[in-house]
Amino acid sequence: MDPDDDSKSELSGERAVKRALLINFMKIFIPASLLLGGIFYFFSNQTQKYELQAIKIREESALRNASDLTSTLFKQKLSDLLVLAEGEVLREFLHNNSTRTLTQIIREFSLYTRRKPKYAQIRLIDTDGKEIIRVNKKNGEPEIVPKSELQDKSERYYFKEAIRLNQGDIYISPLDLNVEQGVIEEPLVPTIRFATPVYDGYGEKRGVLITNFTPAALLDKIEDIFNTLSGDTVMLNSDGYWLMGADDAKLWGFMYGSKETFASEQPEVWRAIISSKNGGSVVTETGMYIFQRAYPLNRAILGTVENIQLRPDADQPQTKDLYWVYVSHISKQRLNDLSSIPDYISILIYLLLLQVTGLISIVFAKHANQKRLASIRLLQHATKDELTGLSNRRELKKIAEMEFKRAYRFKRDYSILMIDLDNFKDINDIYGHSIGDDVLKHNAKICLNSTRSEDLLARYGGEEFVMLLPETDKEGARQLAERICRDVREQPFDCVRGSITTTVSIGVSEIDPNDINYSDILERADSALYQAKREGRNRVAST
Ligand code: GH3
Ligand code: MG
Ligand code: MG
Repeated sequence: MDPDDDSKSELSGERAVKRALLINFMKIFIPASLLLGGIFYFFSNQTQKYELQAIKIREESALRNASDLTSTLFKQKLSDLLVLAEGEVLREFLHNNSTRTLTQIIREFSLYTRRKPKYAQIRLIDTDGKEIIRVNKKNGEPEIVPKSELQDKSERYYFKEAIRLNQGDIYISPLDLNVEQGVIEEPLVPTIRFATPVYDGYGEKRGVLITNFTPAALLDKIEDIFNTLSGDTVMLNSDGYWLMGADDAKLWGFMYGSKETFASEQPEVWRAIISSKNGGSVVTETGMYIFQRAYPLNRAILGTVENIQLRPDADQPQTKDLYWVYVSHISKQRLNDLSSIPDYISILIYLLLLQVTGLISIVFAKHANQKRLASIRLLQHATKDELTGLSNRRELKKIAEMEFKRAYRFKRDYSILMIDLDNFKDINDIYGHSIGDDVLKHNAKICLNSTRSEDLLARYGGEEFVMLLPETDKEGARQLAERICRDVREQPFDCVRGSITTTVSIGVSEIDPNDINYSDILERADSALYQAKREGRNRVAST
């Protein structure tokens, strides 16, 4: 403590206040900004998740559209086939085999190929697999194939599949490429064959009616849908071969005996596809795959195709296995890009809120600091003397009693000095009360310089001080008192009015085994002080 150096102590006090303010600010600001940061991180993460979810939903719904498109179209083709197969003209031809009905049926087939542009061929094949009637479409016009050029199709899979069926059943071939005379037709003609057995008037199976459908327009539409998607989309058949969306070299691999399939390239995705019933998604090393299976035949069965009853045979492979898969692939890179898009608005709001948090933290910190300062002041007021900054009488009593108990209990040394300025009244009278105060502070400081850390100097009254000296016997206390006495005498107070020399008288006493409390020692110090006064002042007396 340095009662004379007010500016210095004020300065360090100011620093302490600033430090406390900063600490209080940090205590509020750091957790608040961390919490804020956490909340924003959570929300921006959620936003990214929603973004991804939205893309997924968009892809899924587009793929479903592609799937629905397929089944709608298939329903039409199936009804066309059945209308032809069950029509009166065909029935009559099968019944009587006359040239007239043959002409009629050829005309009907021609009409279909002309007016229904998606049919590339309509054929009637007998039970041995020989083509009886065949109308091709050539340059948009029907071409009736002469009898000599009709082929034997008994070994073709579609014939074998269709001839086994019952009345009203329909075989739909997988989507493949048209083959003529054992050679894949160029440019490629993607083809689907719809076939159904035909019966004569006696209910006898007489062959198979087959329409070759060119789904180019459907594929174009599906491709259009693919183009609207975020991912790279492919169309696969149920063996995992590419039908659309891949490099040309990969497409239609099964037609060329290739073993390379999407299924072998992406086994993990393929497993997910075949284990899902309709659609779903899977995330692998290479990104996210969203897929949808399209069941053209099964969908057609579920729908009502005018008054046509489809009786699918569950054992037949085509009804079970025929499906296409649309797969949209969003690459890892895109997924990463998506999740790293900075949400500028969120960042801006975060920074603004951070600023507000900072301001609020300052206000709270200031408030907390003021409260703390007020309580410190209150405490100081209660324990310190205002003029000298020394402990006041109340504080002295508290500590003196404590030290007394300790010394008494452990039989330790404990001495007390009672210090009184000599003829101080005269100083006030000569120099005025204000200079008197300064002299008082000056002497308090001299006394304070002689204390050890365990000693306590307190202002006892007007110009009286008490010094508690724990662990000090009377002799030691006396020596200290002599030194103080000398120091005061030898260190006059310098002011504008000149050098003012003062002296002190000091009474010394120590603890006695008969003492009950500290005031017993104090009383003896007081009487020693009066003895010193009586003996002429500027001296030390002890009991
Ligand atoms: P003695 O040597 O017998 O102690 O004489 P004295 O004049 O010091 O003693 P006395 O008790 O008669 O007077 C003490 C004076 O101390 C009275 C008062 O004017 C002065 N005094 C007490 N407190 C203060 C204070 O806070 N400031 C100033 N300037 N003077 C004080
Ligand atoms: Mg005095
Ligand atoms: Mg006095």
